[in-house]
Amino acid sequence: MRIPLAAPDVTESEIEAVSAILRTPRLSMGPKLEEFERAMAGYVGTSHAIAVNSGTSGLHLCMRALGISEEDEVIVPSFAFIAVANAVRYERAVPVFVDIDPQTLNLDPQRIEEAITKRTRAIVLVHTFGCPAALREIAEIARCHHLYVVEDACEAIGAEYDGRKVGSFGDAGVFGFYPNKQITTGEGGMIVTNDARISALARKLRNQGRADSCEWLQHEELGYNYRISEMNCALGIEQLKRLDAILERREAIAREYQRRLEKQADLELPAIHLPDRRISWFVYVLRLSERFSGSHRDRIVQEMASRGIACGRYFAPIHLQPVYRSQAHRCMNLEHTESIARRTLAMPFFNRITNEQIEEVCQSLVEVLGNLRSKSQAAH
Ligand SMILES: *Cc1c(COP(=O)(O)O)cnc(C)c1O
Repeated sequence: MRIPLAAPDVTESEIEAVSAILRTPRLSMGPKLEEFERAMAGYVGTSHAIAVNSGTSGLHLCMRALGISEEDEVIVPSFAFIAVANAVRYERAVPVFVDIDPQTLNLDPQRIEEAITKRTRAIVLVHTFGCPAALREIAEIARCHHLYVVEDACEAIGAEYDGRKVGSFGDAGVFGFYPNKQITTGEGGMIVTNDARISALARKLRNQGRADSCEWLQHEELGYNYRISEMNCALGIEQLKRLDAILERREAIAREYQRRLEKQADLELPAIHLPDRRISWFVYVLRLSERFSGSHRDRIVQEMASRGIACGRYFAPIHLQPVYRSQAHRCMNLEHTESIARRTLAMPFFNRITNEQIEEVCQSLVEVLGNLRSKSQAAH
């Protein structure tokens, strides 16, 4: 694709920092791991940070550390990345899919309450596309019903709610550093928490169940190899230093799209400002009107692709994924999830996209929509 959907932004000095590690004898479990964790805990404002090899591993370790197991129910959005529900299933617990608020695309607090049963143990909320979830309301529900809260902040590093960074509100928060995220380590993730017990357990579980204080061949838990290498951590440290500038650039890109598309018919744009929140722009996802939903939307993606422009469809609901036909789960009413998922269109969105490219993308989209409108008129 001439204009990709996402693209990593790695500088020469970051390449240098990664190469330098390869000239040392410590390629894993070394000083860069500690430095990356310290930097993330400091940035988010939590007392602990535990780096792992992916966001998915981070979510899974949160389930393990909280003792989620068979018979338990965990409330999750279906309008999300599949790892959110899979982490629950890895522990044989039951994901309960709850609908989203159509404005923020995050779990709707009222719908959460309706889904709670005697078996509910936790809520995994997602700060979808970098927009903070209704943390105050969800924290209140969790307190009343004695539920754990895990924040999936994989799409939302740097986002704020009431002036505090997301990830620091729940029992634990998880970040992801895949190359399409705001900052990347290639592959990687980070758990943040203020709970020393969760931190110690996650640390142990990521490293084959070894206690930090124990010798290398002593295993106290059924753990995993979820370790992250020193090269990944070195890249993460450098990227984190640029995060504020990156978030500013991404917000500017969102505004460029907004300015060019706000008067277009058949497009519903994401909110740029929301009360009490700072958005960390992960992707720019707009919604098509009902007449362009489903196969029409897929046609638009194809037409854009034929012009060398990559558009995406975020998200395909988890409860409709083939794998979930045979996975235990429970669905609440998911009308917004299903209706919105048929109409989303993610625009090319990466730090280095130029304003000329944004202009081209918007003009192409307007043309493609116009062509489809005249075709459907001719058919009538
Ligand atoms: C990216 C992402 C993750 C983690 O993905 P990994 O590829 O495992 O790092 C988890 N949840 C959401 C919502 C994400 O967008």
